[in-house]
Amino acid sequence: MKKLIAGNWKMNGSLAANEKLIKDILAGLAQPACQIAVGVPSAYLAQCQALLAGSVIDLASQDVSAFEGGAYTGEIAAAMLKEFGVRYAIVGHSERRQYHGETDAVVALKAQRALGCGITPIVCVGETLAEREAGQTDDVVKRQLAAVIHTNGHCISEIVVAYEPVWAIGTGKTATPEMAQQVHAVLRAQLLAASEHADRIKLLYGGSMNAANAASLLAQPDINGGLIGGAALKVQDFLTIVGAAA
Ligand code: PEP
Repeated sequence: MKKLIAGNWKMNGSLAANEKLIKDILAGLAQPACQIAVGVPSAYLAQCQALLAGSVIDLASQDVSAFEGGAYTGEIAAAMLKEFGVRYAIVGHSERRQYHGETDAVVALKAQRALGCGITPIVCVGETLAEREAGQTDDVVKRQLAAVIHTNGHCISEIVVAYEPVWAIGTGKTATPEMAQQVHAVLRAQLLAASEHADRIKLLYGGSMNAANAASLLAQPDINGGLIGGAALKVQDFLTIVGAAA
């Protein structure tokens, strides 16, 4: 299957910086052999939709509401994202679980809302350092994914999963390719038990993936792409990662 390299810009950018970043990435892309997306702050969806129109890069949101619409101040509905050409919605990023109290059940609902509007959720799962040291990694990621499987049933083969060990996000510490592959294999087995089509689900690795380590991570059999934070803001690094996903 084609790999997916998805950038997560987090709360970074400006009208001027976004325009330069997207134009420079597009100028540096030859014929990419993988799928590419950028997850931009909601305020810039319209701008980035216009900048990416007709290009090989898809637009992603960094979140989506668990509600369909109505009195939910500050929330953005999946249907609204769809109007701006959003193809992927990151859901359950550890920063949202940590700072916004998102539970496994809420994340599962967010994935459901996205799927209901034809948006592919990129469901993030991952353990903290304390959980890894306590030997709980497999249990934690399986619990997080089980909620999404439970809520989304037969649609499960339409999701993307990102394994993002919390201790590796933005820290410069990366899981070794073997560590990441081991968890990806656990997630793949769980998905295969839920759906006969689970072999086509993309499993991304995220957590300090960069130009230097991307190739070895992406060479693992169950690593089908990357969710890239910091390195997605650096043109050359992002292009190198895209090249490594060929
Ligand atoms: C992320 O935010 O999803 C991420 C993986 O960040 P970083 O690449 O900076 O660790």
